[in-house]
Amino acid sequence: MVIMSNKKLNTSLVVLGSGPGGYTAAFRASDLGLDVILIEKSPTLGGVCLNVGCIPSKALLHAAKVIEESKDMKNKGIDFGEPKIDLSKLKSWKESVVGQLTSGLSNLAKKRNVIVLNGEGAFISSNEIKVTNGDVSTIVSFDQCIIAAGSEPSRIPNFPDDPRIIDSTGALDLEDIPARLLVVGGGIIGLEMATVYESLGSKVTIVELTDNLMPTFDRDLVKPLHKIMKQKYEEILLGTKVSSLEAKKDGIYASFKGGQSSSAKKEKFDKVLIAVGRTANGLAIDAEKADILVDSKGLISVDNQQRTNQSHIFAIGDIVGEPMLAHKATHEGKVAAEVVSGLKSFFDARVIPSVAYTDPEVASVGLSEDQAKEKNIEYEKGVFPWAASGRSLALGRSEGLTKLIIEKGTKKILGAGIVGSNAGDLIVEVGFAIEMDATVDDIGLTIHPHPTLSETIGFAAEVAEGTITDLYIPKK
Ligand code: NAD
Repeated sequence: MVIMSNKKLNTSLVVLGSGPGGYTAAFRASDLGLDVILIEKSPTLGGVCLNVGCIPSKALLHAAKVIEESKDMKNKGIDFGEPKIDLSKLKSWKESVVGQLTSGLSNLAKKRNVIVLNGEGAFISSNEIKVTNGDVSTIVSFDQCIIAAGSEPSRIPNFPDDPRIIDSTGALDLEDIPARLLVVGGGIIGLEMATVYESLGSKVTIVELTDNLMPTFDRDLVKPLHKIMKQKYEEILLGTKVSSLEAKKDGIYASFKGGQSSSAKKEKFDKVLIAVGRTANGLAIDAEKADILVDSKGLISVDNQQRTNQSHIFAIGDIVGEPMLAHKATHEGKVAAEVVSGLKSFFDARVIPSVAYTDPEVASVGLSEDQAKEKNIEYEKGVFPWAASGRSLALGRSEGLTKLIIEKGTKKILGAGIVGSNAGDLIVEVGFAIEMDATVDDIGLTIHPHPTLSETIGFAAEVAEGTITDLYIPKK
């Protein structure tokens, strides 16, 4: 049911924001018997992830993968010719994928009698939210509330306001294929979008502030990706920042500072994507009127039941901090919904996997090798190079790597990293192993089907155990 009126509503639970965290919380609470109002400022449910994030980017990355794989087949005996790109058709396909999911969510809400209230919500007291939609406003009074208002792309101050300077939403909009694209920020969004545009035909330059692409991932995992990107892209500028952007009629002129760059040199680009992180929306919901503590970065702190400093108000997802990932938000949403419904649930996941859907994909879970070192944890590792994986070679790829981090003595799995095709789907085995307190033997003795990429996890365990036969490792 969609309500738009100048009236007052009363509910036992209000959920502010309908991204993966918010809609999950609303649906779970409704299934547990609560009356729920779900407030959403966008016309469709699903938040950033479904509308302008995870899903449309995965559709475009699929298109990029098809282009790259068909190009690669040229050397293997099949020539499909140059791809002809019909941008408006590609865009409508991407939008149809999004539409299917968002309308599915509306149906799921309807079936559960979750009331969807369209408009922008802001607190007016500790038990009321005002929802404004144009000149229509509704006051919702509630017993309990779950804030799931997410985050938005961070901006760089002093950059000009120009339609050719875009954020991730603009990049996914696929307005055109710029001849030269500058990507500011070598994190997950920057590299995923670079992957899409390079495949569609743009010449891509990436500028990253730190000395590494995707600085939060293990270096051994990023290396193969960096090598491939270096071959394909115009330039990858590390340890560098954009000192100025100037919008002129014929393009956006950028100058760089740091690294190998001289700020005197200006380069012209057709479009510039800013992907330097996301900022939580805690300062945009008048949380102070409900006496909810929000820090200067817009983040709300919560306990392990997702409760804010106000015992009847909960918060989940990007607004409570890193990692800003949909699957973390979903899990937190379930916990919050169960707690407001009187169940004794806690957010007690040991690990949260992280995946960059680049080509190759990079995925990690638990401790990285660097983190184990920083924490002075005594560890061993099992590393299996995919050049020895029959399945990977049969896919025409040899750059992958699977790495397990194992606690010395107990042999418990502490973490893993995978770079290679479908790394994101493979990493879940190790996440499960960590949650189950599994040891490296448990993984090594689990029969992995042959020939699959999942075998590389079994092989990495065998490397650590010294039982590998698919590689020759000289005895110490
Ligand atoms: P990010 O934090 O992953 O990466 C931003 C990068 O920009 C960092 O490497 C940082 O060093 C760099 N940077 C910061 N300021 C800079 C500057 N002035 N010049 C050049 N580089 C600069 O952020 P993101 O890629 O924008 O992603 C935002 C969030 O969304 C992240 O939390 C990410 O986990 C999440 N996300 C996840 C996925 C996924 O799970 N596949 C996909 C997209 C986004």
